Amino acid sequence: MIEQLDELYREVILDHFKNPSHSGDLPGAHIKAEGTNPLCGDEVTFYLTIDDGRVAQARFQGKGCVISQAASSMFAGQLEGKTLNDATRLIDAMKGLMQGRDPDPSVDLGDLEALAGVRKFPVRVKCAALSWNVVEQGLQDYRAGHRS
Ligand code: ZN
Repeated sequence: MIEQLDELYREVILDHFKNPSHSGDLPGAHIKAEGTNPLCGDEVTFYLTIDDGRVAQARFQGKGCVISQAASSMFAGQLEGKTLNDATRLIDAMKGLMQGRDPDPSVDLGDLEALAGVRKFPVRVKCAALSWNVVEQGLQDYRAGHRS
């Protein structure tokens, strides 16, 4: 059991929780998306600026457990610089990873790879997935608003 918990709270995850990168709001964000995971009490709001079809900047604000906040920090970092299509591929890769599938090797997960151990804890998968579920909804709304 202790070994399993080690896997859940890997050092890179704790680092992101203690010193989140990309936290804060983003005035003028093109995408603002928020969501909650009532099972755990996690809340997160993502702000993205879009420039020329790419995520220029990504920030998040939130509160909740280590997994939800660390995942948001890692995810925001991985989103920056990605095209909207690549952002969607990253989201699909993370969903697959949580379902136990090997991620598409062409998708760079960066620190997000550290979340692989979370899938052994089904209740915590929702904590991790909050970040990409929120952003997925935000991207869908953005695309819908930009279809002429
Ligand atoms: Zn949580």
